[in-house]
Amino acid sequence: MNELLCPECRARCPFDKARWRCDCGSYLDIEFEPVFDIAKIKSRPPNLWRYREALPIRDEANIVSFDEGFTPLLEIELAGRKVLIKQEQLFVTGSFKDRGATVLISKVKELGIKSVVEDSSGNAGAAIAAYSAHAGMPCEIYVPEHASPAKLNQIKAYGANLRTVPGPRLNAAIEALKAAESSYYAGHAFNPFFLQGTKTFAYEICEQLGWRAPDTLVLPVGNGTLLLGAAIGFDDLLKAGIIDRRPQLIAVQAENCAPLYGKFHNKSSESKTAEFKNTLADGIAVTEPVRADQIIEAIRQSGGNILMVAESDIKAAWIDMGRRGFYIEPTAAAGIAGLLRYLPQAGSGEVIVSAFTGHGLKAGQIVP
Ligand SMILES: *Cc1c(COP(=O)(O)O)cnc(C)c1O
Ligand SMILES: [Zn+2]
Repeated sequence: MNELLCPECRARCPFDKARWRCDCGSYLDIEFEPVFDIAKIKSRPPNLWRYREALPIRDEANIVSFDEGFTPLLEIELAGRKVLIKQEQLFVTGSFKDRGATVLISKVKELGIKSVVEDSSGNAGAAIAAYSAHAGMPCEIYVPEHASPAKLNQIKAYGANLRTVPGPRLNAAIEALKAAESSYYAGHAFNPFFLQGTKTFAYEICEQLGWRAPDTLVLPVGNGTLLLGAAIGFDDLLKAGIIDRRPQLIAVQAENCAPLYGKFHNKSSESKTAEFKNTLADGIAVTEPVRADQIIEAIRQSGGNILMVAESDIKAAWIDMGRRGFYIEPTAAAGIAGLLRYLPQAGSGEVIVSAFTGHGLKAGQIVP
């Protein structure tokens, strides 16, 4: 236990070492036994560090935090039925990526690492930049040239070294990996400590439901860091005997960029899913998710599904949420559009949870 494990070659190493990939080149996973003391958890302030014994940080002095988390789980009515929406747009940088960043940057501090490298099309870069700033640590963020200007300005505002890379999103990842040879790669899709943060999404939902799991979770998915984190979180609670089943995981992708949909439904040869176009949901425009196989396995194990939504559905859901007072990022609206698609097949008493994953101010250039 408390080890880094390679899912490819099964190599192991203790996670006190500043390693971010296996010798074989694969990303690493974490084997870590979380502890839940419900009385202690309840006595603590409403932020995600209330689950401290379930988070892989040894010394409290290393925690880099803005008291983030424990976002409201708000009930709204959608297509005539009640659903619960976790308000992840309320994080300090405006997206759920802060869950991953607070744990990852705390771990970086604990390991004595002096600088980090990340690549992102926006929100993860902003989160890593903000938490690095809070820790007083330099960071370098590689972004594709075409990334949203508002997101780039946010990253710059945190004082990060912003490196814009021409060409597709993948080029930024390649450059970041090169730079990481002499630094530490805090890539959110790659680094397993990021998922150790996003797993608190599941802990909070279960606590907010009275330590019960929902039946269904519907999320927009690109690299799958929220979905995989949630899967780890529900698994942890199941193993600890706190909940008695896993919810089914429903991933939503934009029709214009749906590699996971294609893989899941074995349609990768069909032009519709093999071709990538721009989408309003730029936060899930990931053409080659690093952990694709893991994402698909987690969805299969949960008895879930992957859905696809059109640009017109994303826009309609975004406008509808705005009219109800929720100014969310279009990427978040893709999840809601997927939820609308899922609802007709939902059972009558089914407890369904989704999330507003990012804030509307992230995409202020988009006109309703
Ligand atoms: C990152 C992001 C997503 C998708 O998360 P993945 O980890 O890429 O699956 C969804 N919505 C918003 C607002 C995001 O920033
Ligand atoms: Zn390996």
